[in-house]
Amino acid sequence: MFKIAIASGKGGTGKTFVATNIFYTLMSNQIDAVLVDCDAEAPNAVAFFDVKLNSAIEVTHLVPVIDTNKCTFCGKCHEYCNYNAIFMLPPSKIINVIEDLCHGCGACSVACDYDAISEKPFPLGNVTSYSYNNSYSLIEARMNIGVMSPVSVIKAAIKQIKVQTGITVLDSPPGTSCPFIQTVEQSDYVILVTEPTPFGLSDLRQSVETLKAINKKFGVIINRAGLGNTRVQEYLDDENIPLLLEIPYKKEIAELYSTGKLVSESDPFFGQQLLAVVENILKQNGNSNNKR
Ligand code: SF4
Ligand code: SF4
Repeated sequence: MFKIAIASGKGGTGKTFVATNIFYTLMSNQIDAVLVDCDAEAPNAVAFFDVKLNSAIEVTHLVPVIDTNKCTFCGKCHEYCNYNAIFMLPPSKIINVIEDLCHGCGACSVACDYDAISEKPFPLGNVTSYSYNNSYSLIEARMNIGVMSPVSVIKAAIKQIKVQTGITVLDSPPGTSCPFIQTVEQSDYVILVTEPTPFGLSDLRQSVETLKAINKKFGVIINRAGLGNTRVQEYLDDENIPLLLEIPYKKEIAELYSTGKLVSESDPFFGQQLLAVVENILKQNGNSNNKR
């Protein structure tokens, strides 16, 4: 199993476009593949495929429930909570758990010496598994609205990968914060998708610094090449970062994508280019594809 994360420093650069088209290309070349949509705040990769629902699980964590009959209002749980999720007013004998802020770490339960804290499940989101053509798997992480962090849902989605061989494509959340780290940490290689604009370059720099800090191998695909300037290419040259592919800025590509169509399906040359990108990555990392 070789995991490739498709990531970008910001939304809207074409990360899901690349992830879904790579997945389609692998399938159409009879290569074992799984697609995991880890962009749990706004997952949409599954919408590009005519899928069959296989299973769905709810992801929860445990939040404290405080028994005010046993509570002495000592304040120890409040002190132990790093997330300010316990609100208390001892003079008025008020103590409340702010469930939306709670990270389910359990520290308050450990801290309480008066057996005043029990726990209950709190829903964070769902992980749904689908199949395509009865043989390929797609997994979607989707967090509930109002939940502070999608990290637990992303972890649960990656755990749902059942196969041991082939290629897993992880559609990463945008940005460089915890959800991005949680996803790319699980991968063997990261494809960063960017666009040749000042914003694209600025976000690319941040992604590159983050990946270097966690010691991940990566390369870059420039989407909408020809749109802006050549600063991104110059940056890649200066930093000796592999440029994996340039996808030209074309109205036809945007039109196909906006209507939920896969460009690699209608343009076999594009599919071949993506296949070559994946095969080069595998070769450089001592792997080969798993043709059926
Ligand atoms: S640690 Fe226990 S007893 Fe103390 S305030 Fe918290 S719930 Fe109440
Ligand atoms: S479980 Fe952790 S985050 Fe939640 S209220 Fe207790 S100490 Fe705070």
